[in-house]
Amino acid sequence: MDEKGGLLEVAKLHDACGVVGISFNETGNNVAKFIYYALYALQHRGQEAAGISVHDGKSIRTHRGMGLVAEVFKDAQIDILRGSVGIGHVRYPTTGRSCIENTQPFLVKYKDGAIAVAHNGNLVNSSQLREQLEQAGDIFYSSSDTEVIAHLFVKELLKYDLQEAVRALMRKIVGSYSLVFLWEDTVLALRDPLGIKPLCIGEVDNGFMVASESAAVDTLNGRLIRDVRPGELVVIKKGEMKTYQLARMPRPAHCVFEYIYFARPDSILDGRLIYDVRVNIGAHLAEEHPADADTVTPIPDSGITLAVGYHQRSQISYRECLMKNRYIGRTFIMPDQSMRETAVRLKMNTIRPNIEGHKLVLVDDSIVRGTTSRRIVDMVRRAGAKEVHVRIGSPPILAPCYLGIDMASREELIAAYKTVAGVEAVINADSLGYVSHKGLVEAVGIPKENLCMGCLTGIYPVEIPGEKCMAAQTKLSEYLNADATKD
Ligand code: AMP
Repeated sequence: MDEKGGLLEVAKLHDACGVVGISFNETGNNVAKFIYYALYALQHRGQEAAGISVHDGKSIRTHRGMGLVAEVFKDAQIDILRGSVGIGHVRYPTTGRSCIENTQPFLVKYKDGAIAVAHNGNLVNSSQLREQLEQAGDIFYSSSDTEVIAHLFVKELLKYDLQEAVRALMRKIVGSYSLVFLWEDTVLALRDPLGIKPLCIGEVDNGFMVASESAAVDTLNGRLIRDVRPGELVVIKKGEMKTYQLARMPRPAHCVFEYIYFARPDSILDGRLIYDVRVNIGAHLAEEHPADADTVTPIPDSGITLAVGYHQRSQISYRECLMKNRYIGRTFIMPDQSMRETAVRLKMNTIRPNIEGHKLVLVDDSIVRGTTSRRIVDMVRRAGAKEVHVRIGSPPILAPCYLGIDMASREELIAAYKTVAGVEAVINADSLGYVSHKGLVEAVGIPKENLCMGCLTGIYPVEIPGEKCMAAQTKLSEYLNADATKD
């Protein structure tokens, strides 16, 4: 425990990822291929590692590795993963923990069988839980909180039936979790009682699937059925699906950053198309922070939809001024120090004639440390921009995320210690405008009490030592102990 009562430990375990689970009702051997395509659709949620577990009728086989989905899986690996039911995971780069042991799905074997687990989210009490388990003699293979979940779940399954075991698990783990388990030949999906991270259900040919985002369902030519409800367990066996509402909180706390940055614009999260939300945010930005400019331009890719919204509302021309190279993968050889400019330009280049002599509104989703904005403002100035007005589709990020977005520590967050004018000076903009909390909430279309805005307010939906907690959520354990009815 550090002097902030375990805060540093919580902060180290950030884990933003993508998960998928598919169960076909006909015995076949190609589910791994479908999971592979679904993971490809979720690649933006994690580029550090990928893995798939499939039940082949007798046992669970897993293949995991570091890198992009296409780097980890070739035909040979997919061919080995034979079966009609399985789960998959893509992992986001996390600070200092990039090793094969921490890749997922995580497989545990116990006396009654085996379970593979894939997790999107972050537990805030995993170090305490781990300590308790270690005291009791459990041995851990990785440093990830997913292994803690796997151990706890197995212990509960040995004592109770499935629903009771999941209830007992939910009473112990605190934080954000969209979990997909492969429990022998059954896919289980569980969303935390606050529904912090996304998870949806889709129908595909011959079966059902669950995935972090509906774009994965679309990719498999499936039909989005609905989101998994907060506190709900989904059980899919041999292509048959059942759902159980095991916990009911008075209100959810959906991660607002999914809407701002993380999710794909073509995904529908908790009933909202991300594209529409971002166009709305851009429109609010234009209302709140007009600019005397002749060109609206995004920082690609995350600023594109926001800039469209700004352009539509302000009637200022939309023009692309920056071109991003989307093919810089992990194997990219970094140019040495003397070629720094080449390195920067390889990633992003200017379209000079669109910039020279123009007054720009430069739109991005967020400022974290301030380095991206500073670098790009400088770049467009060197390309001849007359003025650069930066507009940001989130309010200032002034507090860390403990619940599943790999952001930065408080010390690194520029808005944690600088005013808007201070940030404006650092990024060298002629003006800087962030969307307001009110504008953001209106654009998302979900009441603010139902959103986790911890990174924007410093107030979190679960209790975190040393941090403020949303009043309505402090009684999490009380709600989890109450009965929830079966659907
Ligand atoms: P920074 O340069 O540290 O201010 O980061 C801001 C840039 O990072 C913006 O262009 C965002 O699109 C992007 N960004 C914001 N949040 C994240 C995140 N969690 N992971 C990776 N990139 C991010």
